[in-house]
Amino acid sequence: MWPVRSILLVGVLTACASMPAASVSRPVARRLPGATRWESQRVGPAQVFYQAGTPAARQARALADSVRVAYAHDWSLLGQPRIVRPLELVFVQSPDEVRQLAGRAATGLALPATQQAFFVVTATRLPALRHELMHLLAYQAWGPPAAPGTWLVEGLAIYADGAQCRHVPLLSLAASLREANQLLPVPTLATQFDTVYDVRAYLEAGSVVEFVYEHYGRRQLEALWHHGLVPGDSVLAAWYAAVGAAPAPAWTPTLAAITGAGCD
Ligand SMILES: [Zn+2]
Repeated sequence: MWPVRSILLVGVLTACASMPAASVSRPVARRLPGATRWESQRVGPAQVFYQAGTPAARQARALADSVRVAYAHDWSLLGQPRIVRPLELVFVQSPDEVRQLAGRAATGLALPATQQAFFVVTATRLPALRHELMHLLAYQAWGPPAAPGTWLVEGLAIYADGAQCRHVPLLSLAASLREANQLLPVPTLATQFDTVYDVRAYLEAGSVVEFVYEHYGRRQLEALWHHGLVPGDSVLAAWYAAVGAAPAPAWTPTLAAITGAGCD
């Protein structure tokens, strides 16, 4: 069985957040005290910001390439956009700088309403671009989900991180939770996600999204997004059965593998 203690450790260290409303005005760069010089470049539909002399500035070209890859990857999951909205991506050095700019400390923070995302980049930590970009692009493509929707928002972003980062299907991680008797009924997961809000909830939500998307297709996931859970839904019954039949992984993924940081 996959050690649940590892899951919990990741839960403490993972700090992604997606906030439904935003009051961040442009340009955000003015909001960071002591920032003497910001640099910016256009990357497709995104305007990218970072401070001169920081790890993000030193990796600017690689970051731009990663933004392009993550953007294309996420749209490949959502279907191609009919209208492209501009994005604003801000790379800083600490969760506290994210707090100063956006009002909440996080290593990654997405504000879908204004299509802004904030990322911590250090010499050793790369941003989870696919995850935060998915928060922005899903809002573009599908709008806000039916309430309670946070579990789907985060589940889709976890799924977008990509299996190549985790090296194990989310279904297997859900099987680990099942073996540890920590799997929640999905309706409970949906209604209590904002209060549970740890990595177990993220992984279970990601597993449901993975299963619906890969077994029933994008349209079915989009229907779930717009209409929410239907009691007795056969899709959920099929997911429970699949989790029951799935083997738990025989190895422990690393923190980076779970969070998806730097996997782009
Ligand atoms: Zn998230």
